[in-house]
Amino acid sequence: MLKVHSRCDLSCDHCYVYQHADQTWRGRPVRMAPATARSAARRIAEHAREHGLPTVHVVLHGGEPLLLGAAGLREVLAELRAAISPWTRLDLRMQTNGVLLDEDLCRLFVEYGVRVGVSFDGDRTANDRHRVFAHGGSSHDHVRRALALLRQPEFRGSYAGILCTVDVRNDPDRVYEALVAESPPRVDLLLPHATWDDPPQRPGGATPYADWLLRIHSRWVDDGRPGSFRLFEALRPGGGGTEAFGLAPADVLVVEADGSWEQADSLKTAYHGAADTGFDVFAHSVDEAARHPGVAVRQEGVEGLCATCRACPVVDRCGGGLYAHRWRTGAGFDNPSVYCADLLRLIEGVDAYREPAHESPVPTPLDDLLDDLATGHGSPQTVRRLADDQVAITRMLVTACREMFGPTAAWEVLADLEVTAPTAVRAVLEHPFVRPRLVRRLDPSTRSGAREAVDPLPALAVAAAVRAGVPVTLDVPVRPDVITVPTLGSLVLPGLGESAEVTVQPGGFRVRGGSADGTVHLDPGEPSAGWRPTRDVLVPGGRLLIEDDDPYRDCYGQSVAPGLTAPAVRALGRTLAEAWTVVHRDVPAHGAALDGGLRAVVPLMPDPERPLRSATARHAFGAVAVTPHPDAETVAVLLVHEWQHAKLGAVLDRYDLVAPGQGTLIRVPWRPDPRPPEGVLQGVYAHLAVTQVWRSRAETEGGDASEHTARYLAWTRAGVDALLASRSLTGAGERFVERMRHALEETRVGSR
Ligand code: SF4
Ligand code: SF4
Repeated sequence: MLKVHSRCDLSCDHCYVYQHADQTWRGRPVRMAPATARSAARRIAEHAREHGLPTVHVVLHGGEPLLLGAAGLREVLAELRAAISPWTRLDLRMQTNGVLLDEDLCRLFVEYGVRVGVSFDGDRTANDRHRVFAHGGSSHDHVRRALALLRQPEFRGSYAGILCTVDVRNDPDRVYEALVAESPPRVDLLLPHATWDDPPQRPGGATPYADWLLRIHSRWVDDGRPGSFRLFEALRPGGGGTEAFGLAPADVLVVEADGSWEQADSLKTAYHGAADTGFDVFAHSVDEAARHPGVAVRQEGVEGLCATCRACPVVDRCGGGLYAHRWRTGAGFDNPSVYCADLLRLIEGVDAYREPAHESPVPTPLDDLLDDLATGHGSPQTVRRLADDQVAITRMLVTACREMFGPTAAWEVLADLEVTAPTAVRAVLEHPFVRPRLVRRLDPSTRSGAREAVDPLPALAVAAAVRAGVPVTLDVPVRPDVITVPTLGSLVLPGLGESAEVTVQPGGFRVRGGSADGTVHLDPGEPSAGWRPTRDVLVPGGRLLIEDDDPYRDCYGQSVAPGLTAPAVRALGRTLAEAWTVVHRDVPAHGAALDGGLRAVVPLMPDPERPLRSATARHAFGAVAVTPHPDAETVAVLLVHEWQHAKLGAVLDRYDLVAPGQGTLIRVPWRPDPRPPEGVLQGVYAHLAVTQVWRSRAETEGGDASEHTARYLAWTRAGVDALLASRSLTGAGERFVERMRHALEETRVGSR
């Protein structure tokens, strides 16, 4: 959590930053300085890299972060993306009161993939009970305007949800209705901060907070669980908990505006200085801050709790409540929560509430991603999220190489470039055929083979150094007489042997090995003997690589075409550009999804017996393989079809949609042999998109297009039914397939 601005334009009387025991904000700078943000970003990146973290969540917080202004926020976001994204998936979020939110800021958040949570306490009476300006004026209309902005289709992807602080004097029905009316993807209900020294108000009843929350819970369940109410999901058996519930280790650290590392923010309610660690981002790493006793004790699960909690029947779900709420002068945090009676009653009440028979499956935290993809296409923002996931996996594989084979000179170069030239490293790691290299290197069944034994890191380091213009010299294992520098091209140098010394120098690099010595100038006006640069073509979504050279493109289980002639590349490029335009014409939403992530096409070997073939490889996100075919209308369908497999493959890399280990086989109309559930899921997802293409064409063409529509529609319906009947999907998988069924029956999905 980054405290990028330490003052606020509201003056809420329940604010733990300004109104509770801790008053350290008075001595902090108003804004986080750029140098502080940079140091924080580097510390986080360093931590992600050293621990191979798949994801890091960074929340811009305050005070009020929007007071930093668009320029200041852009600077911070750029620092974070540049430093952290090369190493892990960076989930950027912001918590704001919404007062200053406008369209320009929303565009900035869409650009940087920031998801925005808004603090909002419900109906006007509830919200304005606490959330007012210093002059006492209402903030209700301001916040509702911000929420309406985030609901607009172009900004909806940046709408994270609502944070609502409970006040039991408010009418729970009106609060619930006001929250749901804003269509938030997620609602966080927060108990007001309190301690045994300063207990919460109890206007009536033994467990007023549980009673109030259970009223909202029953409304939510009866309504079919609209959106995600995180508190109720977290409290269910196996619900996973939150910072406030459950036994999962605490994983939040705060960077204050002056660069101090602090413990969780809520501790400010306990006593002055309670969140201090004595560490800061300039001198101390995340690991050092996390070793602070106050953080360490919260890694101990049930052992870190008081005797009462350890003996409690619901301790696995309650976890003693929020750490700050356990504070009592003299006993410290070694107490149950000051909300103990309410928490026990709440958990019992959630368990006991009978769900209506019509209820839909329980939403999961994956919902927003899967629901967006289940439309058939997914937004460009979702596709970028998948791409970020894939880079994070590639980075973990790089780290695994270091773990398995030890640090090497190439590793050191990559690690240095990661700090000094992260964009160059990311450009290399994003190349679709880098991950297949790493997988071959790490796979114990292939590591002993000749090519498979090649260490991929030197070639990756050279590629990144060339892109960054950083002079380095490395020994690079090569194919006999050929050295391939990923993303840049291959040098054919007779007599090179199987290892080369590569020196990166201004404008290119020099290669020496065996009896060979050659220099590559990357300036196209200065051709180099034996150099075959990668070739790309212009398509509506940007530049598309025609990858016919990288040896690791041979990962499709089908023969790939050898290097194409220049006229053949131009012809293929023209067809692909036309096909891309056709996709935008027929199904613009699928066109936008292609724009969002398809970066390379691999030509497959032509085969007169099967002139139309296409493929996707699970380890090569961002690329599809097709046989060169002159008809753009046909190629458009192939691109859409294969891009579905790529997107779903990226989802399946991270999430279980199919219950593991069942051995189920399912019959489908498009294959003669029964298929495993994952294969059927892939088929259904691809056929949903193809149905959408043909349905759009049928609206203007009729004839064959109508026949194709009917066939793919029938196949997809049958596949959906068979999958759901097989009971082989996880809850998330069932929800995804149900949503696909809904998208399938819509008559105009992203059509022209
Ligand atoms: S908007 Fe948030 S930071 Fe600002 S005063 Fe209210 S609770 Fe505190
Ligand atoms: S309900 Fe009370 S005793 Fe049980 S774990 Fe929670 S705080 Fe501890």
